[in-house]
Amino acid sequence: MENRIKIFNTLTREVETFVPRVDGKVSMYTCGPTVYHYAHIGNLRSYIMEDILEKTLRYAGYDVKRVMNITDVGHLSSDADTGEDKMLKGAKREHKTVMEIAKFYTDAFFDDCKKLNIKRPDVVEPATNCIQEFIHMIEVLLEKGYAYVAGDNVYFDTSKLEDYYVFSSQSEKELMVGVRDDVDEDRNKRNKSDFVLWFTKSKFDNQELKWESPWGVGYPGWHIECSCISMKHLGEYMDIHCGGVDNIFPHHTNEIAQSESYLGHKWCNYWFHVHHLNDKTGKMSKSKGDFLTVSLLEEKGYNPLVYRMFCLQSHYRKPLEFSYEVLDNMTSAYEKLLNAIARLNPSGEADEADFAAYREKFIDAVGNDMNTAMGITVLYDMLKSDLGDATKLKLAESFDEVLSLDLTAKRGKQTIDSDLESYVLAKIEERKAAKKEKDFAKADAIRAELLEKGIILEDTREGVKWKKA
Ligand code: AMP
Ligand code: ZN
Repeated sequence: MENRIKIFNTLTREVETFVPRVDGKVSMYTCGPTVYHYAHIGNLRSYIMEDILEKTLRYAGYDVKRVMNITDVGHLSSDADTGEDKMLKGAKREHKTVMEIAKFYTDAFFDDCKKLNIKRPDVVEPATNCIQEFIHMIEVLLEKGYAYVAGDNVYFDTSKLEDYYVFSSQSEKELMVGVRDDVDEDRNKRNKSDFVLWFTKSKFDNQELKWESPWGVGYPGWHIECSCISMKHLGEYMDIHCGGVDNIFPHHTNEIAQSESYLGHKWCNYWFHVHHLNDKTGKMSKSKGDFLTVSLLEEKGYNPLVYRMFCLQSHYRKPLEFSYEVLDNMTSAYEKLLNAIARLNPSGEADEADFAAYREKFIDAVGNDMNTAMGITVLYDMLKSDLGDATKLKLAESFDEVLSLDLTAKRGKQTIDSDLESYVLAKIEERKAAKKEKDFAKADAIRAELLEKGIILEDTREGVKWKKA
């Protein structure tokens, strides 16, 4: 099939025409959440934009298989293998077991995704399901001489690689940020950038989840899980790997180091990274404690899909600053958009040629390095155009396969509401007539019948009023 989707590839730092390894098929991997707390809306920005990438590829005709891990073990509070174990921290905070915490926050994550119309990846695999695969990969890395045992931990030896810093145009300084966070330096490491593949001895004597391994009872490092889980489901090659920009180093750099050393060939062709959502103090992060969640937005009266639209109105390769003011403006823009679509009054069939032409325009817009704001502009232009309403409605429904903003939500509702309204008004008239006849039993029965349907009647001086219970 024709390849026309363009994406910025962090490996080459260029916008490239995406060409999958197998014609018409895409294998895609996304680093999933670390489930020790709710996802904040920054994390969800990444997942929204990755969802757009997946849906755009599907819309353009590709057969996509997408895999996501769930990090329920191994992620320490510093990405450079030090600090506290994030899962253990969550368990202590809530006086629960690590597995209870993992289950609770995995479910919470997918609830949030549902509210934001983020499609669940085809495969979702928790790290704790794959311990044997991790051990196998580490054994092979040791056999091949890419890893060493020191102080009872297993480390990856980055000096064995010709080019460890594959995302090369990242300045060395930027790359070392993760390592600089690393306050207590690990003396077992041969090179500063080496990283842990398997922990047996660490300061976490109370680590809850531990497994037998050839190197003693312990648990895996964070990076190994994504290499193994992706290969388990996608094989030795992958087309697109996604994550937030903070994953570029060290996480994705280390994933590439392990995977390519293990496989002996190039692993993934395209790297897609979403920039951060910031608040006034900088990058939104879970460890800051005070962070914004989908539930919090809902408590404040926002529709989660307004947040999705807020994300889609900006480009994924630019940092985005969150503010309630912008979210308020987005709420009214979203309402207006839905109302415009609700007012469409289709009669007859959609025009197939117009439909196909606009569909192409939409693919060209969003397919140009996920320019979602341009995609929304195509939607507005289409609604303003002189196309017939039937075509417009069909196009709005079609674009929504990618945008997933529930664009026709108000149409459904209006019909139900107007049906309900005419039903209630008819009953009120009936009751009025009964009262006039002094048939109060009938009048009361009608009131009760409405109440059963959740409608409350109020007799006021201006006449009968009704409201939903
Ligand atoms: P975590 O649950 O911490 O492993 O992160 C889940 C995903 O969210 C990863 O892809 C991160 O790169 C991404 N992420 C973390 N913080 C932000 C942020 N402030 N804005 C956007 N994405 C983020
Ligand atoms: Zn990962």
